[in-house]
Amino acid sequence: MRRMLFMAIMAMYQCVCSLAVNVSKYDAGGVPDIHPTGWLQTLLQRQHDGLTGHPEALSYPYNSCLWAGEISRSDESYGDNWWRYEQTAYYTDGLLRLGYELNASEMVNKAMEGIEYTLANATDAGVLGNRSLTGITWPMSVFFRVLQAKYEHDGDQRIPAALERHYLNFTEKDLAGGIVGGRNIMSLEGILWTYGKTGNEQLLKLAEDAWAIQDKFAVDETAITSSEPFYMHSVTFCEMLKLPLLLYAYTGKTKYLDLAIMAVRKLERESMLPDGVPSSAEFLVGNDVHHSHETCDVVDLTWTLHHYLAVTGEAEWADKIETAVYNAGLGSITKDFHTLQYFSSINQFIATGSSNHNIYKHGSTWMAYRPTHETECCAGNVNRMLPNMVSRMWMKDSEGGAVATIYGPSEATFTTAQGNLTIACATEYPFDEVLTFTVSGQDGASIPLTLRIPTWCQHASMTINGTAADVELKAGTFVRLPEKVKKGDVVVLTLPMTVEKKLLDGQGIYFQRGPLLFAYAIPQKMEEDTKVYENMHGKVSENPDFKSWNITPTGDFNYAYDDDGAQIHVNRPTVEKPSGAIPFDAQYTPVRLQVPVRQIEWELEENNFTPHLPEQGHLTLLGGERKYIELVPYGCTELRLTVFPDTKAQPMEQSTPDYTRPADAPECVKVEDGRYCAYFELPRFCWDEPVWCKVRKAGDDHVNLHSNMDGDPCVMVGTTANGRKIWKWTGPAITEPSPTEIIFTNHDLLTQIMPFANGGYYNYERLMYKAGQATPTSVKTLKAGHSVDSYYDLQGRRINGKPTQRGVYIKNGKKVVVTM
Ligand SMILES: [Zn+2]
Repeated sequence: MRRMLFMAIMAMYQCVCSLAVNVSKYDAGGVPDIHPTGWLQTLLQRQHDGLTGHPEALSYPYNSCLWAGEISRSDESYGDNWWRYEQTAYYTDGLLRLGYELNASEMVNKAMEGIEYTLANATDAGVLGNRSLTGITWPMSVFFRVLQAKYEHDGDQRIPAALERHYLNFTEKDLAGGIVGGRNIMSLEGILWTYGKTGNEQLLKLAEDAWAIQDKFAVDETAITSSEPFYMHSVTFCEMLKLPLLLYAYTGKTKYLDLAIMAVRKLERESMLPDGVPSSAEFLVGNDVHHSHETCDVVDLTWTLHHYLAVTGEAEWADKIETAVYNAGLGSITKDFHTLQYFSSINQFIATGSSNHNIYKHGSTWMAYRPTHETECCAGNVNRMLPNMVSRMWMKDSEGGAVATIYGPSEATFTTAQGNLTIACATEYPFDEVLTFTVSGQDGASIPLTLRIPTWCQHASMTINGTAADVELKAGTFVRLPEKVKKGDVVVLTLPMTVEKKLLDGQGIYFQRGPLLFAYAIPQKMEEDTKVYENMHGKVSENPDFKSWNITPTGDFNYAYDDDGAQIHVNRPTVEKPSGAIPFDAQYTPVRLQVPVRQIEWELEENNFTPHLPEQGHLTLLGGERKYIELVPYGCTELRLTVFPDTKAQPMEQSTPDYTRPADAPECVKVEDGRYCAYFELPRFCWDEPVWCKVRKAGDDHVNLHSNMDGDPCVMVGTTANGRKIWKWTGPAITEPSPTEIIFTNHDLLTQIMPFANGGYYNYERLMYKAGQATPTSVKTLKAGHSVDSYYDLQGRRINGKPTQRGVYIKNGKKVVVTM
């Protein structure tokens, strides 16, 4: 009776304090007391003793007062005015959460200086953040997450109040544009959160109105059926991806949910790499494993996926967070947490101060493991990666029950009406298959417990206090235990992991076991890199214990997978793990895969860059016999071979690229009389003007197409229908020998090296069409017919033929209802 009365009072209290709608399945951030244990605690302690605890190693702007005052600009000629506030907000977020999770009061106190300064220094109208950032709301969107972390920890009521005043100063127009392709719109994350806490309907209206007029996140029903890939800055995309989902969470309008799901599916189809993070150069650039990704993408994508997980309550998103952090994330840092890469790659045979093989900043320091980078975003953001994940390992369901969402050794404390309960998850996951949940705390207290069955796990089993549990453990679901758990209960969840050999179509083979991707750790030499690079603007680690590295291969990497018809063998060596070692330390990792390989002709490009995968079906086998090499988890590695060429793969069917001039091609794009010419469509973000062009002719090897310097100046000649600028190169008379290869550069960035076509229209990656190529009528009819006939489901998957089930589909860019 007393309990019912309490519940009734609680329900009334909830009604009074917030009238906001929220259809989210789980409350992310609703469990203030989550701590890592086991190997995860050791890794977070390394982060504490490493970069997060040593901002002087990260150098500028982390060696400043952070948000507790004005940060001076180190060099007016370099970077943008808002960078230092964005970057230090990333860092402070990681610092504060890490401090809470490790009970490291010095970290919490340092982050608190920035919080208190920011709250105390609002304008008279209540606007928070540095005054010099008028019109740029993005850095404050990043710092909002610091404030959110504090609120999640202690319920500080000043925070929703301050944010409410702050956001009411903005109109929808203020939020619909901004830097790097409209990042002001990212304020919606904070606005909607604040609406959730205050119930102020004005905030919800502001968020919906701003979303309705923004035009940068170009995703709609038409876009998913379009063959045009997403064409956006990758970090901006990963950040923006969560906004329609949050609009759904706070309105219940399914149009927003449809949009969020369609967008993430298109991203996965086009640009997802096997380690769980999309390509970034800095654009989304497809799923060629030669592309790399920015470390910010790991952090921003997983933060977005935490929202997908909480809002939809679907297990799939938790799997994807684990894949991204345990693979891409840990692969981008040295495991002492002293250095990080800005760009990291699936196949990475060399990592030095000049080996960046990404087309963005090609040949630069950006792929090296260093404590500080030219642009400092990743050096700040990397500090959020693990603390963010830990903070979302446990959530609450709508009845206050405990939900174990992301797996790894951890413990969380829950408040119940009868007192506190702590649930500890002891495990060597993601290496081990067994997770043991032990409940301790107040006698008489009990709580519902929900566990995740990963999508990759077909034969999960569970015991509760030694007895097999009578529940269905379906892959890719959350399963609520039949009875509440109480002090002394022990739940053992076993998630059998099988080795999966996966094919990356047209590229190669890779191996996964449970959430872990495996890679061959190429024998390597680490040498300190003391060179002072011009692009680093004089920044070096101010802590001599934090070095920059040149990592070069000292052994073979030229292996192709050579199927021997047998199952992949799993080695579980008995490893003497000294205290302080973790399973992501390559020499102590407890799971290894043995794979059959043969050596092929495959070398570094220019002795300095990771080469492309050799063309499928055209491998040159070297003399040796089949042999076996051992793979370790990808997250253990620096130099690695992850996607293997396949000795058994057949050559790809050669499809002739269609270079037909599209009907809506701008008129300014045409073949020039008497001279060679080519056109370049400027990417929407990142590319400053002007543009230069370099070409190479047959036998002409003095032109260095890998360098971003030199070239002929181009001229801006027009714009496309969607507002992208077109630059034209005019070359020598066509009586001269024809160029064979072409690049465009702005003396900073570089496109791919592409085949030359006279009158060719290029983007940063490929030849898109030839200006002089006439449109054959038959092809046009065929293409139009194809598109009209295709149905897509709301997930963006093309249906073969007509749908066989009733429902809503996309056809010819429009929603259609199919009734049977
Ligand atoms: Zn970054």
